[in-house]
Amino acid sequence: MSTAPPGAGRASSFAEIIAIKRDGGELSREQIARFVRGASDGSVGDEQLAAMLMAVCIRGASTAEMVALVEEMRDSGALWKLNETFPLTLDKHSTGGVGDSVSLVFAPVVAACGVPVSMLAGAGLGHTQGTLDKLAAIPGFAVACSRAEAVARLERCGVCFAAQSDEVAPADRKLYALRDLTATVPSLPLIVASIMSKKLAVGAAALILDVKVGRGAFCKTFQQAEELAQALVAVARAAGLPTKALVTDMNEPLGRRLGCAAEVREALEVLEGRGSPRLREVTLALAAEGMALLGRAPEEARREACEALESGRARQQWDRIVEGHGGDPDPRRLARPVRLAEVAAERSGYVASIDAEVLGWIAVALGAGRRFKGDLLDHGAGVAVHVGIGDPVRRGQPLVTLEFGQRAVDGEGLARRAAAAFLLQDAPAAPNPLIAAVVGGE
Ligand code: URA
Repeated sequence: MSTAPPGAGRASSFAEIIAIKRDGGELSREQIARFVRGASDGSVGDEQLAAMLMAVCIRGASTAEMVALVEEMRDSGALWKLNETFPLTLDKHSTGGVGDSVSLVFAPVVAACGVPVSMLAGAGLGHTQGTLDKLAAIPGFAVACSRAEAVARLERCGVCFAAQSDEVAPADRKLYALRDLTATVPSLPLIVASIMSKKLAVGAAALILDVKVGRGAFCKTFQQAEELAQALVAVARAAGLPTKALVTDMNEPLGRRLGCAAEVREALEVLEGRGSPRLREVTLALAAEGMALLGRAPEEARREACEALESGRARQQWDRIVEGHGGDPDPRRLARPVRLAEVAAERSGYVASIDAEVLGWIAVALGAGRRFKGDLLDHGAGVAVHVGIGDPVRRGQPLVTLEFGQRAVDGEGLARRAAAAFLLQDAPAAPNPLIAAVVGGE
């Protein structure tokens, strides 16, 4: 039972502050600052941080609390103000999806159009695979960096992929990792605070957001995704950062590959003019909208982005980006699975739905994500998806291939889960629209 009215009273211990949120109260700026300070300097233990995250996840946060959380987390480290050195830098962020290697295609495409790209990328969260984990599959690719290194990378190769560090938004680094382990990712205020704190700390000139919606996203409904997109755009704009969000489909994996090395390979396929048309289209839409935020005419931006892909310039830019981050661009050096197992359709029909979240969790179990704190990834492990919503399938046709790495896993159990992730029906089904909405275009 609660002992204090919501939000009231002067809490002195951190347990009392948690209790205010647990009981549905509103936290003061000072209490939020204490929470964020506790995350970045270790003065609040993991168990209390996790309890607070769960309380926010369940109870939500007011606009004032969310803005305070963003600002406190932004100010938990240095402010890079990259736009002071590169006045036309574009940043891009996704709320997290499955088979979502957009960032790996977006960066070379946009840089090949002459627009510097800075991305403070994250590791995998929940069932999604993170950009940082995919980049780590490239031998030698270094993401840890200071502001001076970020500037040097941008000068060298037009792109800076950076990891969260003790330097920029360290509070998010801590809370991000805890959320991943405590099922507290799908919370609008926590997602807004996590994304916007690091974006504002880096200080690019404009931000393009990919807010995913559907079974493989943290927002399962269009309404939730639109609300999240509006909140992200509102916080960004209030801070003076020109921002737009595309709400894009995540009812099935975006590309056809899940896993660290596998997603790098899939991004290369798109850069080479092959690969997933869905991945290509979302990337081009984000690139065009992002460059338009920096003043280019929208149709011209789209035309330039297509040209960068089709001419092979974006593909060449990719090699420069990898080398600019100390990595080896030879794709033959990427890890491969050690064993494969196909999962076949048990009946003929049409693919009506795919549980992309389940496929994401299977990829995590195989080695593409962390099951517990400190878990090691297996860069060669993942899932290859062979069909999409609306496709006809015959009984016995492979739906997915499980790509095993070195981890000991229950392969048969995973295969059963993978088969159950596909709903097959007699009548043809239509895939969902790839771009469901544009928020912030008005
Ligand atoms: N990406 C982030 O950086 N944070 C989130 O909370 C979700 C996606």
